[in-house]
Amino acid sequence: MKLSFCTSVKKEGIFMNEYQELIDLLNSKRFHAEFFEDTGSAKKRIMELISDADSIGIGGSQTIKESGLFDEIAATGKTIYSQTLERKKEKPDNMAVWRSAMGADVYLTSTNALTREGDLINIDGNGNRVAAMFFGPDKVIVLCGINKVSKGPHDAIARIKKTACPRNAKRLGLPTPCATEGVCRNCGLPERMCKVTVRIQYPPNGKDIHILLVNEVLGF
Ligand code: SF4
Repeated sequence: MKLSFCTSVKKEGIFMNEYQELIDLLNSKRFHAEFFEDTGSAKKRIMELISDADSIGIGGSQTIKESGLFDEIAATGKTIYSQTLERKKEKPDNMAVWRSAMGADVYLTSTNALTREGDLINIDGNGNRVAAMFFGPDKVIVLCGINKVSKGPHDAIARIKKTACPRNAKRLGLPTPCATEGVCRNCGLPERMCKVTVRIQYPPNGKDIHILLVNEVLGF
């Protein structure tokens, strides 16, 4: 879905994309950040970025699913390590696929939030997705809609708990308050999704983290 509001701001007499400052900040922090007007252009770029990879780990992500990337990558014949595929097996082995994804050539995911301070904020239940982002494949690709842009880490976490967790919990059929009541009660249930919170402020040594910000609402 494309947002209808204006995404240009005036700076030093010229109009520029309101996200340009964020893109510049991310690049100054040694991320590889790019802005795209639509998902189609971002997908094209992702296909370029993975062109010489044999194996791709894909994190559980509504954004990746909605974008159609999963099927597009599968059609290339590259090896995909993903829980989505594992679930279809008769005897799924989630731990095995999470470990394989850590050793893939590329890891593709979204992010729960991207802050105006240039940080990636993610909350995870098992920790596999966030671990793959900072300690997995050398090349990480993050596809992010502008609905994930938050002011700072506190706003980011508040947004995740208010928006992403209830929808994810409902989708997964969890008994957590965010699913049953629609609000976070900071639960202590075994099914709690918010067990690991990670703030990536700079790419860890040896990691190329590509952040593709799209001027559309993607995921939640
Ligand atoms: S702490 Fe519990 S209730 Fe709150 S968002 Fe996480 S899983 Fe939901």
